[in-house]
Amino acid sequence: MGEQQSKNSNNDFDVIVVGAGFGGMYMLHKLREQGFSAKVIEAGDGVGGTWYWNRYPGARCDIESLDYQFGFSDEIQRGWSWTERFSAQPEILRYAQWVSEKLDLLKDIQFKTRVIQTNFNEQKNNWSIETDTGETYTGKYCVMATGCLSMPRAPDFDGLDSFKGNVYFTAQWPHEEVDFSGQTVAVIGTGSSGIQSIPIFASQADHVTVFQRTPNFSLPAYNKPLEAGAAEAHKDKFMALRREAREVGVGFGNAAEAKPAAQYNKEEAASHLEEVWKVGGLGVLSAFSDMVLSNESNDVAAEFIRDKIRGMVDDPVIAEKLAPKSYPLGTKRPCVDTGYFDVYNRDNVSLIDINDDAIESITATGIKTAGNEYTVDNIVFATGFDAMTGALLKMDIRGRDGYTLNQKWEEGARTYLGLSMAGFPNLFTVTGPGSPSVLSNMIVSIEQHVEWIVDCLKHMRENNIDSIEADTQAESDWVAHVNQLADLTLFPQANSWYIGANIPGKPRVFMPYIGGVGAYAQKCNQVAADGYDGFKFSEVS
Ligand code: FAD
Ligand code: NAP
Repeated sequence: MGEQQSKNSNNDFDVIVVGAGFGGMYMLHKLREQGFSAKVIEAGDGVGGTWYWNRYPGARCDIESLDYQFGFSDEIQRGWSWTERFSAQPEILRYAQWVSEKLDLLKDIQFKTRVIQTNFNEQKNNWSIETDTGETYTGKYCVMATGCLSMPRAPDFDGLDSFKGNVYFTAQWPHEEVDFSGQTVAVIGTGSSGIQSIPIFASQADHVTVFQRTPNFSLPAYNKPLEAGAAEAHKDKFMALRREAREVGVGFGNAAEAKPAAQYNKEEAASHLEEVWKVGGLGVLSAFSDMVLSNESNDVAAEFIRDKIRGMVDDPVIAEKLAPKSYPLGTKRPCVDTGYFDVYNRDNVSLIDINDDAIESITATGIKTAGNEYTVDNIVFATGFDAMTGALLKMDIRGRDGYTLNQKWEEGARTYLGLSMAGFPNLFTVTGPGSPSVLSNMIVSIEQHVEWIVDCLKHMRENNIDSIEADTQAESDWVAHVNQLADLTLFPQANSWYIGANIPGKPRVFMPYIGGVGAYAQKCNQVAADGYDGFKFSEVS
């Protein structure tokens, strides 16, 4: 390994990284910095991952731009100036491209290439990676930076192929501009992608018909341009703030003291919630310390938001349909919107609750429900992702003895720390199931994983260690711990993608680690300090 092995021929590298989103980009940088040879393989034809694919109008981050950026380099954070509080997709994509140029990443990324199979070779103790272009790459290690929200959920409506109009997927939006002026649009799905894009569609189209299965809690963004002076001043504080953010629950903000809801009387609770609501963004979710622990506390905040919806939507029947009542606040991923609920006061927007009027099929001209037929020019699917496991399982990953990841995860994802799986030596996942990932500022979680993995590879190089594999018992203990923590919360009450409920037949297992990024990082650091406790090493013979 190192200098000598960094040289490669025949597509052989120390490390193959799959995916060139923020995870793969930072992984490549860190590996090269430490003298490992690496190749990144990416299905898209550019960097940015999420921000490369999700180009739908209205797409923007819902964690503030000043937090949703890399924090590993003071030079990088000082070199980029965000223009909005919650930046839009084009700006975030430009940022990813700028970082890739600054770090000279592109020369080591193979774009427009999808990994279709990976095999662990026990004799050679390496991974061979097969691609859809017919090439084979080999790497002693393989790092999956394939994203938690990168495998769009395939819509399974009867008759989809018969539709004569245009079909769009928010998660695979065309690169050229799509303008719905003078046209009619049906949108299926009211998660974050639907909620961000529907107001833009409504401002263009003759008519937008929204098909809602489950209403979502959505909080106002109160997005605004960032004043240049404030953004520049923030750069002086950023590195310290990021260090602090790595210690707190969700990887942004600081550890402000929240109190249980019961410590407020009714008026105080309402005024506290009003204060946080006015700030905009996701803050309402942490207004009470027991928000996801107590149904009573949760309902105080949930009812506050439902009342806000009732106040924003003129038609009381529509308002009730939009007000979520079937799951606690925060247990499905809440959204941050700009003008979402107001849109239902427009004459050119209708809401169809498919619980009252189920979609039966897609026809040549539109959508047929039990009671109606909606003729439209365009259908937009904002139907989400096969989250956390979809991209990994799609790849046909074959570990020791040809044992596949699909076999291993038949009853749900099992990992040690969300980083590694028993039976799959020398394979790592960035923000895999069992890590805080989607319950955090993901860039913070990505950086922590990348740094831990690269430190581990350095440790192995320095100690002549040839392979690393999670111990089955350590993995089982971790899976049990992740589930025990989730069971202490209200999260299992919701049919969320966190639990796989959005994909028919997917095992219902709560996938992310809910204990917070600080506690999680401490655990990972302790594992390393204890000689990689819970992992098995084999030495170079
Ligand atoms: P991704 O960005 O998903 O990149 C994975 C890459 O792997 C993709 O480019 C994909 O093409 C590639 N890939 C996958 N499988 C293969 C294969 N078999 N072969 C080759 N390439 C493959 N998180 C936040 O913290 N804050 C936010 O505000 C936020 N907003 C979001 C908005 C949207 C619309 C979405 C969908 C997600 C958002 N997220 C947000 C989550 C977001 O996914 C992460 O923040 C982050 O961008 C993930 O980076 P990643 O590199 O881990 O994965
Ligand atoms: P999502 O949250 O899973 O929402 C998908 C929507 O489609 C849901 O309303 C779902 O209803 C509906 N749906 C799915 N299948 C359906 C069917 N067969 N019939 C009718 N409705 C159907 O997906 P998303 O909106 O793409 O967001 C996924 C995640 O990506 C978010 O939770 C967030 O983490 C991230 N994201 C973030 C932002 C941001 O603001 N920065 C923007 C977009 C995405 P049910 O709820 O009933 O399943």
